[in-house]
Parts: sequence; structure tokens; C-alpha cells
Amino acid sequence: MPVPLLDISRQHEPVREELIEAFREALASSRFIKGPVLESFEKDFAAYCGTRRAVGCASGTDALGLALQATGVERGDEVITSPFTFFATAGAIARIGAKPVFVDIDEATFNISPRAMEEWLEDSADMEGAGAFNKVSGRRITAMVPVHLFGQMCNMDELKKLSRGWQIPVVEDACQAVGATWKGEKAGSVGRAGCFSFFPSKNLGALGDGGAVTTNDEELADRVASLREHGGQGYVHRDVGTNSRLDAIQAAFLRIKLAHLEGWHEGRRRNAEYYYKALSAVPEVRTPMIEPEAESVYNQFTISVPRRDELLEHLRSKQIGCAVYYPIPLHMQQCFRHLGYTEESFPASLKASGEVVSIPVFGELTEAELDEVVSAIAGFYGAGKA
Ligand SMILES: *Cc1c(COP(=O)(O)O)cnc(C)c1O
Repeated sequence: MPVPLLDISRQHEPVREELIEAFREALASSRFIKGPVLESFEKDFAAYCGTRRAVGCASGTDALGLALQATGVERGDEVITSPFTFFATAGAIARIGAKPVFVDIDEATFNISPRAMEEWLEDSADMEGAGAFNKVSGRRITAMVPVHLFGQMCNMDELKKLSRGWQIPVVEDACQAVGATWKGEKAGSVGRAGCFSFFPSKNLGALGDGGAVTTNDEELADRVASLREHGGQGYVHRDVGTNSRLDAIQAAFLRIKLAHLEGWHEGRRRNAEYYYKALSAVPEVRTPMIEPEAESVYNQFTISVPRRDELLEHLRSKQIGCAVYYPIPLHMQQCFRHLGYTEESFPASLKASGEVVSIPVFGELTEAELDEVVSAIAGFYGAGKA
């Protein structure tokens, strides 16, 4: 039996009529840019994330760029992030002319290691007045971008401590973690700003591209709102922004889907629990570690295994959806070669990139499908169930 990695149509089935009605209303209103529907969604989304404000934009990539710019990151500054993430995290930093500085991940959670960040700061950074700077390059260090990978938040206690001590604001890459919590606080509500993607495969997906920046800082929210429309107030421009809005029709779709999000998270958690139990019988498989303070929304269920590429082939031959997120750590990307890292710079990231496989976890999977996935993995490693 084939099992898809993700089948969005199953998720859309129960909201199909509502989505069609939203399209009819948008067409009748002829209000496609901004307007009351966008404002309602921004309000609902901020309430969901537990922040004062949410500002819609065109993608998660733009959310990162806009949030960094609004936080005060300038051309030539350094921004600390993880090398084991989707390209957009570092891409957004580089696109605004800043320099990504990578620190390694924690092998068990795949998230940025606060200890590695602390070590890097102690070795390389100094304080001057109110800000941190790199002792070697002389550049300012103006943000850290922890990525809540696969749906689990980073250790925000440790990161906030570093952020406070070094006066470096946190911009959360929460693109995979809408609704995830750390000690009950939602992703996107802990740092100076949170960045979200509504790419269709995220837990809250639009019917196209979309993104948002969340924050408790009204002034920052206003800056993002201005930057998404060329950085002006009317025709007076203090900053050079861009055109990056969230379409009213996508906001309408997202508003409908947001009402179902907690239920969808529950489905993913149920499936994750199933895997934790069933895969414990396969000693070769290491299941993802969720810290006790964190509640994951399992955007991905990512296991680490020996003979990874052979397992991939085996799963594909059985038409079981699987993918490697991510096969090349960002410090190894050609476009970042000038940063001067070597393959060995980040051993945990390198190791993860060679061992990980993400398997189907979306909420509408049937038990028979989950069983099929587990049997295929167990069969490959010769552990009963084949
Ligand atoms: C999806 C994603 C992004 C980018 O979002 P887009 O909406 O595709 O631009 C950024 N960071 C992470 C970690 C993501 O998963």
C-alpha cells in the first residue's frame, strides 16, 4: 500500500465548502490587497500565537528578512543561526546584506545548541556600549535566529539568557513551528519577533505562498508593516522596503484553516506517539528527542538511522513517502563558501545530514498506513514485522 509523505487534499476535504465560499466572497468584494479580511486574520493569528501583533507578508522567507531589517540588522552585520535548517533561514540573512554566522546543533533535537552559541560568543565576541561585536571581524552582531526545526521549539531559557547577556535580539524562525510551545509559551511570542511561513506543507498552510511576523512590540510591527510596502508612510520613504503583502484571499483561507489547527496538531501528535511506541522495537532507529519543556507540533517526524540512503531506496520501492531534510548543511553550500567554513566545522550538523529521514506524520494518516511505514522500516532492518 503506497503511503504519501503528505496529502493536503485530505486536510482540505472537511473545509472544502468554506474555502469555496471564501473565494466567492473575495471575488464579490473585489478587495484583493489588504482590507478587513487581512486585518481579521492578523488579529486571529496574533491571538493564536499569544502576541500583540501579527503582520502578514508574502512568504516565510520575507517574514525573516522584514523582521531582521525591522529589528535593526544592517548591511555588514553578523547574525547567528543554525547550519541545519531550510536554506531560507540563512538566505534571508544574506539577502539583506548581513553575514550568517553558524553555530552547531544539538544532535538529539536538531535545534541550535545554546552551549555552542555560548562558546562561540565567549571566544569571538565582545561588548561595546549597548551592543555585541565580533572581535576578529569587527562587525556588529545584531540578531540571533534560532530555528524551531521540525515543529519543536529551541531551548528558549538558555537562548534568552544569552540574548539578554549579550544584548542580541532573538528573531525566531518559527516557520515549522506554528502552535509549538516552550514552557507553555507559543513559538513566535518569546523573541523580539517571530517569523512564520504559510507554505502549503507547513502545519498552517495557505493555498499558495504566505507568511507573517509576530511581535509584542507595536513599533516593530509598524516597521514591518511599512517595510512590506516599500518602507514608506504614504509617499515619504525613510527606509527602502519591498513589496511583500499577504493576499486578502490567502488571509481568508488561512482564517478558515486556523480554526482547525489545534485538531490537526493533535492528529500529528497521535501519529508521532504511534511511531515512538512502534519504532522502539527497531533498535537501529533513533526517534527525535522532544525536551520536557517543549510541546512539538511535528511538522516533520524525523528519525536518524544507519544506512540511510539504502533505507530511502527501500521505502521508495514500496511507494512510502520519505524525504531528507536536509541533505547539505548550509555551511557546505557553494553560495556560503566565502564564509570560510570546512566540512568539519559543525560535526553534529554534518552527522545529522547523513542520517536523517522524515517519514509521513500528517494528521489524516490511517493506522493501516502508519503500520505500513513501521513494517517497511522494521523489515529493512530485519526486526520481526517484515
Ligand atoms: C519554510 C521555511 C522557511 C521559508 O518559508 P517560505 O514561506 O517557503 O518562504 C524558512 N525557514 C524554515 C525553517 C522553513 O521551514
